[in-house]
Amino acid sequence: MTEAPGPLRPGAAIGIIGGGQLGRMLAIAAARLGYRTVILEPQSDCPAAQVANHQIVASYDDPAALAELSGQADVVTYEFENVPVAAAGRLALDVPVFPPPKALEVSQDRLAEKRFLNGIGVSTAEFLPVDSDKDLASALSEFGGSGVLKTCRMGYDGKGQRLFRNFQGDVAGVFAAMGGVPMILESLVGFVSEISVIAARGRDGGLAAYDPTENVHRDGILHTSTVPAAVPPGVAEIACRSAFAILEALDYVGVIGVEFFVLADGALLVNEIAPRVHNSGHWTEAACAVSQFEQHIRAITGLPLGGTGRHCDCVMENLIGNDVERAPRLLAEPDLVLHLYGKAEARPGRKMGHFTRIRPARPTVPT
Ligand code: AMP
Repeated sequence: MTEAPGPLRPGAAIGIIGGGQLGRMLAIAAARLGYRTVILEPQSDCPAAQVANHQIVASYDDPAALAELSGQADVVTYEFENVPVAAAGRLALDVPVFPPPKALEVSQDRLAEKRFLNGIGVSTAEFLPVDSDKDLASALSEFGGSGVLKTCRMGYDGKGQRLFRNFQGDVAGVFAAMGGVPMILESLVGFVSEISVIAARGRDGGLAAYDPTENVHRDGILHTSTVPAAVPPGVAEIACRSAFAILEALDYVGVIGVEFFVLADGALLVNEIAPRVHNSGHWTEAACAVSQFEQHIRAITGLPLGGTGRHCDCVMENLIGNDVERAPRLLAEPDLVLHLYGKAEARPGRKMGHFTRIRPARPTVPT
């Protein structure tokens, strides 16, 4: 990989693989710092391209498109974790790619991710690989009949998952019904809440983290993120320390999202890591001087990381599908920051936008 010298100068170009809402918000943050953006995305007029300087309309692994991207960009980043690792590796021969492709490798496969986390001393749910109905039967009996079966790859927002609770029956056919692909069975975690930490590492190795948020999901999709999270201060500190350990072990540059289960005794288990800006960090745009998007742009361009202090408490809520029709009414509220993603069609389950209600900060009370 070629190392870029010093911070990128204003006017330099940032390549972004993926054209969704995260790419859109990264492009806006990049523009505020004086950078140009080039989006690689097969869907034309995508949310990111609407606010970027240029779009290359091609698949993420198209060799000609990758050559065009590395020719135009001074640094390349991505907004989703399923970027083909080979494409990121190919780009990295010609232009710095941050976060490093290794972060994609680890986060694309739940088995590799859990082994990596446990290997650096970060706890997760217990897990067993499942490659057949027989494996599933023995894994379920190991975990007392309960667990969450997940495809190792391409699962997100609860997709590619099946819950077993005190299951005594026959699992014949389950492996094939789930697609016959490599899977893992995770032990069913009796968590009291779910939190996440958005953290960053700069090109100089500097570290920063925002306050953890408490996340509530609906139908497997993030519904709200609340800051501060109702966890004792010690828990927040441990969560940040785990995020920093992950960043350092991956020699990471950029923003990462780390999702945790909080157990009744305050212990934390990492559910998953996302090597990118994260939905549960959207509140930073409304409540912090430097948002997660600007933080990521700062990190990958070699600028100093920004402060992560929060100047208000807040609740971020996603607008899914037809929820987007609430936008005009929401805008009548004071102290509300709305962000729509420029998607033409409001399909069920599709993230159309989000809003953040802010209120004066109160001291975090240990619970
Ligand atoms: P994931 O796609 O892995 O983020 O899972 C989506 C949601 O399913 C999580 O946010 C949890 O609410 C729930 N979940 C996932 N894995 C487990 C587990 N091992 N035990 C209990 N709940 C889980």
